[in-house]
Amino acid sequence: MRNLQAFKQLLASPKNVVITTHYKPDADALGSSLGLAAFLKKQQHQVTVITPTDYPDFLKWMVGHEEVIVFNEGNEAKSGQLVEKADMIFCLDFNNLDRIEGLGALVRDTDCPKILIDHHLDPEHFAEFEFWSTTAAATAELVYELINLIDERNLIDSDIAECLYAGLMTDTGQFKHSNTTKNVHLVVADLIELGAKTAKVGELIYDNNSLNRLKFIGFSLSEKLKVLEEYNTAYFAIGKDELAKFDSKTGDTEGLVNYALSLNDVIFSAVIIDRDGEVKISFRSKGDFPVNEVARKYFEGGGHKNAAGGKSDQELKATVKKFEKILPEYKQQLNETNKQVKNKT
Ligand code: 5GP
Ligand code: MN
Repeated sequence: MRNLQAFKQLLASPKNVVITTHYKPDADALGSSLGLAAFLKKQQHQVTVITPTDYPDFLKWMVGHEEVIVFNEGNEAKSGQLVEKADMIFCLDFNNLDRIEGLGALVRDTDCPKILIDHHLDPEHFAEFEFWSTTAAATAELVYELINLIDERNLIDSDIAECLYAGLMTDTGQFKHSNTTKNVHLVVADLIELGAKTAKVGELIYDNNSLNRLKFIGFSLSEKLKVLEEYNTAYFAIGKDELAKFDSKTGDTEGLVNYALSLNDVIFSAVIIDRDGEVKISFRSKGDFPVNEVARKYFEGGGHKNAAGGKSDQELKATVKKFEKILPEYKQQLNETNKQVKNKT
């Protein structure tokens, strides 16, 4: 962070703090937010975490989750008051205020200092303080680094350590993706030293399925997976009725896209879901195939090279058609990436 001294100065006396994170928070978004919130509370600040939308049940063990304010669950006015009253607003795990929908306008309109902590590409630069790195595997890693930068590591307790560990574990795909650096392991080692029970966090997040969710995954794998061998591509297109049939909850479709990518000879995977009046798409890739470019060019989205997302205002069927139609443009690149990926093994 460039103006670290000024940031430290801000934290030197108790403040009203709002922490917000992206739409449909995942373990990194919520873990870094609640970890930071618990840390700031220990420094005697008044802290509220506001999320634009709800989040999966398998995150409802994190310290302070009961106090999270979900903006779009009738808390618009309350959130407005909290933002207005705030002395500082932290924006975690996103870098463009459009990503937090209605809450973004509230944050944009306030004069108080904003602090961005994030690891995504192309920030909007709306914040006075930026702690931003695309080489960080997770926002949780940056929260850990920032706490260390201001010499407050001693305030990280086991609850905070477990929130941060959850972000690192999930954003690295359980320490499997190429963003799993030496630093990730060093940070995790220190979080364990600070009391994080890693097996417990792993079970809470990964071994916590509802029967409906597991059956939905089974159904998707047996009935919905479409493989396009010619393009080293596989995808699922999921309709609203199919989500309803399995009483799908927030987070139930998370990870589905990875099953398609786990196939031999698949370089590019997608999940295309008809949800809440719009079609939402998740992309994943292996090797150097940049799914964020596809998301940006065709689906009003973005993200990382190997994990990106976007949306479409066309219907599910038309969106699937559009997706299949763009594949010939990438055929050569996909075929070559597949060869490269195989040569490495
Ligand atoms: P997921 O597939 O898990 O929803 O998203 C993977 C990544 O893609 C996220 O970390 C985020 O960087 C990016 N992403 C997902 N949806 C969108 C979107 O609508 N717009 C942008 N710019 N990025 C997105
Ligand atoms: Mn993240």
